[in-house]
Amino acid sequence: MQCPRCKGLMVDDWFQDIRDDTGSINFKGLRCLICGEVVDPVILHNRQVGPEGIPGRRKRRLSPAGVS
Ligand SMILES: [Zn+2]
Repeated sequence: MQCPRCKGLMVDDWFQDIRDDTGSINFKGLRCLICGEVVDPVILHNRQVGPEGIPGRRKRRLSPAGVS
């Protein structure tokens, strides 16, 4: 898997999706080691639906791994 932005290496990572109604859910996605681009099923779905359907959710990485 290559980063769509910088063609860098992407690794599996777990993310937390904050939801107002049901609390938080965790999901697996891909994160670029070079530029930090995140690719996950939610983002891919939103891109297919259209840019107007993207909610302003904040995502936080669960892993404490430092990003240089
Ligand atoms: Zn990248």
